[in-house]
Amino acid sequence: MEKRDLLYEGKAKKLYETDRPNVLWVEYKDDLTAFNGEKKASQLGKGKLNNKISSLLLQYLKEKGIYNHFIQQLSDHEQLVEKTTIIPIEVVVRNTAAGSLAKRLGLPEGEKLKSTIVEYYYKDDDLGDPLINEDHIELLDLVDSASLNEMKELSLKVNRLLSELFQSCDLQLVDFKLEFGRDRNGEVALSDEISPDTCRLWDVATNEKLDKDVFRQNLGSVEEAYQTILNRLEGAVTHG
Ligand code: UDP
Repeated sequence: MEKRDLLYEGKAKKLYETDRPNVLWVEYKDDLTAFNGEKKASQLGKGKLNNKISSLLLQYLKEKGIYNHFIQQLSDHEQLVEKTTIIPIEVVVRNTAAGSLAKRLGLPEGEKLKSTIVEYYYKDDDLGDPLINEDHIELLDLVDSASLNEMKELSLKVNRLLSELFQSCDLQLVDFKLEFGRDRNGEVALSDEISPDTCRLWDVATNEKLDKDVFRQNLGSVEEAYQTILNRLEGAVTHG
């Protein structure tokens, strides 16, 4: 496989074309951003950790029947993925109150939710990724309702699978964000990354935060937190 032109550079990754029209070469960067890009830093080793964690999780989900864009990990900080056209909706799944939900509804952080909550955000940097509902999605024609249903069902399945996996390595999956795209046949495919940049993960015994909140809230070493996640996941996947 040959790496060709840079197609897109985002906050955490660079995407390159390859000699195959439907395959992209992803390079994970060490950059961290939060609060819609207002807080920025670079953490050596973060890109490698997220590439390894995301590769492991996407491979795991693939084996459990969740169709996604992951093809293979290439190196410490690179992977190959199927090219998809991203649907401009971020799906957030929540098991426990934290972050913007805790703030918006005045819930104490850490309160277990009676039932799982699914939220949609419109992927638009200029608008600051606003919270939207199904009517807004229809109004803006972001995706048809059958595909939105599929995205919701897939997100709930991912939640069940990942909650179980993380539980087996003493981690609580508090919430996470997913993105979906369409493959060349128009099928909905789970896309983007799943990593501590996009999930909240707390140690089950101590409630220690081991995700991007370490960066958002200046709680210590991002690298150490993400390394802990990787070590535990590798243990769970090899022994599980
Ligand atoms: N999230 C993300 N990208 C975003 C917004 C949120 O990956 O652009 C993730 C975030 O890491 C958390 C979950 O989605 O795991 C819910 O985030 P929340 O709405 O609480 O937003 P926050 O204000 O904390 O970013």
